[in-house]
Amino acid sequence: MAYVITQNCCKDASCVPVCPVDCIRPAESGLDSASAEMLYIDPESCIDCGACFEECPVGAIHYEEDLPPELRRFKDLNAAYFERHPLEPVSPPAPAARARVDAGSLRVAIIGSGPAACYAAAELIDVDGVEVNLFERLPTPFGLIRAGVAPDHQHTKSVVGIFERVFTNPRFAGHFNVEVGRTINHGELLAHHHAVIYAVGAATSRQLGIPGEDLVGHHAAAEFVGWYNGHPDHAGHQFDLSSECAVIVGNGNVALDVARVLLMDRATLAATDVAQHTLDALADSAIREVVILARRGIAHAAFSAGEFLALGHLDGVDVVVDPADLPDDDAHDDVETSFKLAIAREYAERSPTPGNKRVVFRFGAAPVAILGTERAEGLEVSSARGAEVIETSLILRSIGYRGLPVAGLPYDEDSGTVPNECGRVVDGAPVPGTYVTGWIKRGPRGVIGTNRLCAEETVAQLWADFGAGLLARDIAGRESLDALLAARVGEPVGWQSWRAIDAAERDRGAQTARPRVKFVSIEEMLSAGLRG
Ligand code: NAP
Repeated sequence: MAYVITQNCCKDASCVPVCPVDCIRPAESGLDSASAEMLYIDPESCIDCGACFEECPVGAIHYEEDLPPELRRFKDLNAAYFERHPLEPVSPPAPAARARVDAGSLRVAIIGSGPAACYAAAELIDVDGVEVNLFERLPTPFGLIRAGVAPDHQHTKSVVGIFERVFTNPRFAGHFNVEVGRTINHGELLAHHHAVIYAVGAATSRQLGIPGEDLVGHHAAAEFVGWYNGHPDHAGHQFDLSSECAVIVGNGNVALDVARVLLMDRATLAATDVAQHTLDALADSAIREVVILARRGIAHAAFSAGEFLALGHLDGVDVVVDPADLPDDDAHDDVETSFKLAIAREYAERSPTPGNKRVVFRFGAAPVAILGTERAEGLEVSSARGAEVIETSLILRSIGYRGLPVAGLPYDEDSGTVPNECGRVVDGAPVPGTYVTGWIKRGPRGVIGTNRLCAEETVAQLWADFGAGLLARDIAGRESLDALLAARVGEPVGWQSWRAIDAAERDRGAQTARPRVKFVSIEEMLSAGLRG
């Protein structure tokens, strides 16, 4: 018997170093090689010790015998990976050389509190002497872990547990409710820190660039995601849920998250931390079909195989794939792509269940124009079948995120990122003491755990600069920073305030057997956080 990694893998790879027989792959250390969507355990080499199971931050590892029925396929997938990539020993990377850190000689500001920021903080705080100040615009930490991960993926959110030791370290301070660029600027951060790491993510959505994009009823999927996750910026949105069919353009993991939330039965959704306003709005939803539009074929689908498989286990929902949209040839070098093809073929063979709702995949279908006068009434689509119109009043574009310029830093308009070399910001030459990590560094790709390698790479640049003496200079003390923030934002909002908000949300949830009922306005959050 062996342990098996399932689709809920965050790719943080904490399991890899604890495996005594080194049988978890891919275990590469470079970010380029981090593109494989999952990690796998070689069933032939696994010795059932359970070390990986204990270590996994998101509960994605199961003992083979205990695999729930909907995850049993992952046993074969783990084995199939090693049939194509036989296990070879990997020599562990040499530990990065780093200079000694005397007290007061390295204080780092981290901007943002999502997974990229948290992994960067974790990487730094373990070194004696390093001080970290983390700045977050909202009164609540964790960025997309709180406001991006779908509510039915509660286990994924449990990754925050690994960051608790960082946030409670006496050399760490969380400054929430502080907006860098408005409350405090880059120059002021540099005046109080030896180095600044921006982990601000990709805050906006890409545009389709087709006629009709401004019509009411067309939204970025990210707005819908923020709405169902109770993000204060998105809590006030209204979505037209009155037509039978909704269309999602793009077929990445966000598209699948949104489709599930639109179609999932209310009782299942109510058992999650989905925003209460979303639960109430969906109770009156007329949507029975969600069309997911993929401009390319299944072999290029951006969703992960595990998420595609899980969709087929959603109660009361059929997954519909037209066999004519699938390629004739199943041969593919890549294990995950082969798996996606196999799953798509199974969906294509299924018969509809009377009364079920439907997710309909349209591969090879590109959006041409959003039709309507004042509101969206349909989406014109072009495919091998010719031109057609899908009637709908709700179109969500789920075609990827885009980073915004950061005040005081260079910006690459094409990629929506801050120009950098392995995380060191460059504007012709390196910008002293300034770094990036996460989506603002590498673009909006990868899952939560991808940010671990990304942060390691950025922090390695910071150590190199520190070791070369490039970060050594006189900076103002902590008291000066506290006084500046107090003058601009009043009462500090930090980890203790978040604990109070967290406890209050959980209490509200306990009253209705939900994990939490989120506060969705900054005022409510501050009131709970400062009262607690
Ligand atoms: P994504 O994975 O980049 O997918 C974007 C999709 O939009 C692709 O299917 C792409 O198709 C399509 N697209 C782009 N431009 C288009 C256009 N002009 N017209 C039509 N289609 C277009 O983005 P995402 O879904 O926003 O996800 C972002 C990242 O978060 C990903 O790395 C994802 O894995 C991660 N994420 C993970 C999870 C999870 O693990 N459960 C959940 C949510 C998000 P082409 O390939 O043809 O360009």
